[in-house]
Amino acid sequence: MKETMVRFENVTKRYDALTVLDNLNFDVARNEKVTIIGPSGSGKTTVLRMLMTLERINEGCIWVDGEPLTHMQKNGRMVLASDQHLRRVRGKIGMVFQHFNLFPHMSAIQNCMEAPISVLGLPKKEAEARAAELLDMVGLGDKKKHFPIQLSGGQKQRVAIARALAMRPKVMLFDEVTSALDPELVGEVLNVIRKLGAEHDLTMLMVTHQMGFAKEFSDRVCFFYGGKIAEQGPPERLFGNPQNERTRQFLSALL
Ligand code: ADP
Repeated sequence: MKETMVRFENVTKRYDALTVLDNLNFDVARNEKVTIIGPSGSGKTTVLRMLMTLERINEGCIWVDGEPLTHMQKNGRMVLASDQHLRRVRGKIGMVFQHFNLFPHMSAIQNCMEAPISVLGLPKKEAEARAAELLDMVGLGDKKKHFPIQLSGGQKQRVAIARALAMRPKVMLFDEVTSALDPELVGEVLNVIRKLGAEHDLTMLMVTHQMGFAKEFSDRVCFFYGGKIAEQGPPERLFGNPQNERTRQFLSALL
């Protein structure tokens, strides 16, 4: 059996009266590449934000690499995990956002060195060597000293990917990482993600509207609707022969 890397167990998330995730059960295996699709407001981003512990859950439990991310069982009662525990588990996850979120006052290489030094306590030389290697890997070896303002959107996004990888995560989350890019810059970012998936031992979860990429890249596509996974399956099946009426409507509206 495949090892489970991420597990949502009966997870419910509400904002006041709005139930965004409704008793969600969702497992991702180690090394699996999963794409999350669904209409706006269906909770796709919330799933990723909860994995980054940017949001608290109301009910249920989330596990990463076998460790509870949200609550811990103690004497039969559910209690919140300590900050120290959360930091450690969160360290297994890297996230890339739609709007890059680079530090504007730092060069590309400094962006990739900051957290390894301040969070992991790496010596500067080691952090710098790792950052340089990752910037080479995303094709920005000649832009290491550039500041975000001197980079194109696609280049900024590739720095953001290198920065997330510098923390050596086991799981990478991509939240609509090409949505803010001009169409001609989308390909260079998708190429980097494709390469990462092929060459690294990484579990990857991606929210995207790039259905062509999802089809080619994913092991599994999950269609979110009404706070649940309405349908999921291998991309050929889900795109080629959707069973759920909502999935069919969603996909046909994209054509
Ligand atoms: P998606 O990524 O599928 O578009 P989201 O996960 O961003 O959906 O949001 C799901 C729902 O939760 C939306 O209706 C959104 O308005 C609502 N929501 C998200 N964040 C908050 C928040 N901080 N406070 C209140 N409602 C929110």
